Amino acid sequence: MSLVSPPAIYDAACRACPRLADFLGDVRRDHPDYFALPVPPFGSALASPAGPQGSSQTDLLIVGLAPGMHGANRTGRPFTGDYAGILLYQTLHRFGFADRVGTADPQDGLQLLRARLTNAVKCLPPQNKPLPAEMRQCNHFLAAELAHAKPRAVLALGTVAHQAVLMAAGRKSSAYRFAHGAAHVIAEKGFDFSLFDSYHCSRYNTNTRRLTSEMFEAVFQSIRAHLG
Ligand code: SF4
Repeated sequence: MSLVSPPAIYDAACRACPRLADFLGDVRRDHPDYFALPVPPFGSALASPAGPQGSSQTDLLIVGLAPGMHGANRTGRPFTGDYAGILLYQTLHRFGFADRVGTADPQDGLQLLRARLTNAVKCLPPQNKPLPAEMRQCNHFLAAELAHAKPRAVLALGTVAHQAVLMAAGRKSSAYRFAHGAAHVIAEKGFDFSLFDSYHCSRYNTNTRRLTSEMFEAVFQSIRAHLG
């Protein structure tokens, strides 16, 4: 039995990005009822690191950008409490990855089914814009999540999430261009999954119809076809 602990997928006390840690301190002062910490991944249980190979309970890992101020940063659950989660949770339920349509309440009992949700950057960034250095700093959590969850499909919501997944898998982003609806095979070097790209399901993207529900569902149809 190995005495080496597996890399952490999350650390509530992480302050490795000083700008973000200071910003969260300001948010906690202004909104004492907000979660205002690094937001943990959410979803189906991870297999025990000591379990047999291939025992992962995760088919799909969804990676967003970062917690939203009044969404995940407030509630402590990814994509919960603001507009961005509405289309995502509706679609997860429609395609059998959630047992119900989630609400804005993280205590709603929602369970994801062989799916997990996380963000490329775990802490709320000012103006929803993490710096490249912060994405790199946080990437070891995503790498640990990928290694531990062993998903067969990963959905990247937007370019930054796409780049973060590739970095976590040790790939050059120049070899895998982001495009809505694209799918990239990431095999070898300990990984075996398909990376699906979608525009982020943000209010801006849906209001401007850069992303429609039909476009989003088409990506999930591809994921379902891949998973079989
Ligand atoms: S963004 Fe990630 S690495 Fe940076 S402080 Fe938050 S949890 Fe730590």
